[in-house]
Amino acid sequence: MRPFFLFARRFFIPCGALVSSTLAASFSNVNEQKHHSILKSIGRTFSDKSMGGKEASMSPPPFDYDPFDSLRKNNFSDEEFKRCFRYFDSQKQGSWTREDFRRFLNALFSNKKRPYCILSDLIEQYFCETDFNQDQKIDFDEFFSAWKKTIKCAVKPVSALVIVDVQNDFISGSLALHSCPANHQGEEVVPVINQVIREVNFDVVAYTYDWHPLNHISFYENRHLRKSLPESPISADKANILDTVVFVGSSGVNGGVEQVLWPAHCIQKTPGADLHRDLIRVDNAIHVYKGTNPEIDSYSAFWDNQKLSKTSLDDQLKERFVTDVYVVGLATDVCVASTAMHAVENNYRTVLIEDACRGVNEKEIEVKRTKLNESGCIFVDSNVVPGMVSGEDRRPEVARGMFVENLKAIGHYNPH
Ligand SMILES: [Zn+2]
Repeated sequence: MRPFFLFARRFFIPCGALVSSTLAASFSNVNEQKHHSILKSIGRTFSDKSMGGKEASMSPPPFDYDPFDSLRKNNFSDEEFKRCFRYFDSQKQGSWTREDFRRFLNALFSNKKRPYCILSDLIEQYFCETDFNQDQKIDFDEFFSAWKKTIKCAVKPVSALVIVDVQNDFISGSLALHSCPANHQGEEVVPVINQVIREVNFDVVAYTYDWHPLNHISFYENRHLRKSLPESPISADKANILDTVVFVGSSGVNGGVEQVLWPAHCIQKTPGADLHRDLIRVDNAIHVYKGTNPEIDSYSAFWDNQKLSKTSLDDQLKERFVTDVYVVGLATDVCVASTAMHAVENNYRTVLIEDACRGVNEKEIEVKRTKLNESGCIFVDSNVVPGMVSGEDRRPEVARGMFVENLKAIGHYNPH
């Protein structure tokens, strides 16, 4: 899957960033420096005809009518899908030309009726993937099979906010982020997350907790309790805080267990394991406790680090028909990144809200950011989240994974 996303990501170009500061702001998923380098690379892209630069320099015009509104209002009935199909059928021949298909993509992938730019190569790729019988036009059945799930998800996503480990020990306690190499202030995520909770109507909110027993493998103070393997980069008795040790695995674990040593933190039922006092508690939320097995750490809120046992999070999200997972909290390069990666692996459209996260190590944050991006997770600032959750801001890069999964499920995916 990864090479595919690498390939696909090249084709989503925020046209507006070139022509409109308003739309540029909607791509605030990059910091200023990255933003400039992206703009530069877009400049290169536009001058390259092989990337479809010619037409990409013209931003598709905004449209007045959103043909997907009535699909949403009528709960995606088959009749509404037919009406939607007819809307783009300019020749009234019961099929779409390439131009009809392009108009469909522009309307679907838009932000408040302003289309995102999708380069012609990708439009062609989508067209070929949708045109099952290869007759160079899209009939209703092809449209319906290929796009039903993706449209539904883009227009009416079911969104969960997963708040990772906003616990006292990571903010002011034994593993406070301000003492870690990046010198981040963990507390800064609290007002941002609270604002997101107040402003955005999430279908589901989940809180995760690092929740360790006293004899947990990740504690520096416990390094003498277990034997390290000869191939460990450093033996347990010589290790310092933040060193990685390979311990002899306990029963059920094949081989050694690689473990970063952290100061003892988030011990079950201690004040350090409580959520920050100012963090808003949402009623009927999901609460996930991880890292409870003394022998295996668990950065992700879905699986432990050895992927031997899963928490209830995935089942609880699936029970609630969640399609989109927004990840926030602490720490960006550890538990937030692992949770986001597993959300992608579990086929959720995954979004990391960057200004609602703080991390341990800047270099590692960059490494994780690249890996997550390649896997299909996108990074945004909290100010764009209301539009995305409401289905008004429909981004092509988050829809791609679901489209491909759908094609695979119906047996029509053929990577070229
Ligand atoms: Zn921990």
